[in-house]
Amino acid sequence: MSETVLVSACLLGLPTRYDGSAKRNQTVLDWLAREKMIPIPVCPEQLAGLPTPREKTRFCLGDGRAVVTGNGAVITFSGQPMNEPFLRGAHMALRIARIAGCQRALLKERSPSCGVHQIHCNETMVAGVGVTTALLVDAGISVQSEEDLPADTR
Ligand code: SF4
Repeated sequence: MSETVLVSACLLGLPTRYDGSAKRNQTVLDWLAREKMIPIPVCPEQLAGLPTPREKTRFCLGDGRAVVTGNGAVITFSGQPMNEPFLRGAHMALRIARIAGCQRALLKERSPSCGVHQIHCNETMVAGVGVTTALLVDAGISVQSEEDLPADTR
């Protein structure tokens, strides 16, 4: 039976981003087809009930792991606290991963929810993970970004 993989919906071409755009990634689509993976699309921020379009967000303290442990903060660019909806969306994504039997996830790099290696904190791009990524990793799910895909499929 084919393996399921949780995928950031925007990478599949769904217009889920803060500005109502998508980030369709042909490398991701090719990889899914080549590996015969079944993508389970999720947008944690939409799952949290946030509207699209919505205000852009960034970390002002720590990263997603820090938010999960109660030591970080994600805010909108106008300064509204967003930890609660981001955590809610992350838990929803984890629930879906469990229902669909996903052992792996492929998430959008540098997003405050989905970032895998880098995020934006204040005005700077730094090493860190998004809130959903942190929760999935803690749950034992293997998470990679679109930038981790093997060179021969990129
Ligand atoms: S939260 Fe994740 S899936 Fe949703 S738009 Fe941002 S990067 Fe894409």
